[in-house]
Amino acid sequence: MDQFKIGRFIAARRKECGLTQRQLADALAISDKTVSKWETGRGLPDVALMLPLCEALGVTVNDLLAGQLVEPANYQQKAEENMMDLMRENQENKKRFILAAACTGVTVVAVCALVTIASVVELPTAARVAVLALAVATGAAGIGTAAALDAQAGCYECPSCGQLFVPALGEYVKGYHTLTRRRLTCPHCGKTGMCRRRITR
Ligand SMILES: [Zn+2]
Repeated sequence: MDQFKIGRFIAARRKECGLTQRQLADALAISDKTVSKWETGRGLPDVALMLPLCEALGVTVNDLLAGQLVEPANYQQKAEENMMDLMRENQENKKRFILAAACTGVTVVAVCALVTIASVVELPTAARVAVLALAVATGAAGIGTAAALDAQAGCYECPSCGQLFVPALGEYVKGYHTLTRRRLTCPHCGKTGMCRRRITR
């Protein structure tokens, strides 16, 4: 999926239809900020919005995902390419999600082992402090890596407007979270809430 190409295509088609960003946004009952995000390649339309968007722009979903009007002769091939792209993206997200979970598990075991060594084994104070420092460093590195992987895996759904978005890493790390939800500010409507995690688009 070439987000930038798709964005330029949406902008071009919208102008050809004589619509402003505001008018297109109103037709889809979303904010004009969301339309601007798509057009600048900073986000893809949610699957639920694809059909109404294509209808408004007078294109097919295949055209939209390809970021261009697909020639009838190439239609089948392009549709298959688009489908494979979507599947690959979802697969990569799942892989990152599993990797993040594995990384968290290894980190917990390593930190526990180091803390156990520091508290059980007879060591000079300096060595004990060094082992504890290593435990803290391992924990921080492991959790950082897991968070970075996890943040890239899939996206979050805003409870207010239902839009999907990928949070910035900074906001992601500091956000209060449970297993399936995370407190984030939605870039589409600006509201902060417990956003549900979605692994696939
Ligand atoms: Zn929102």
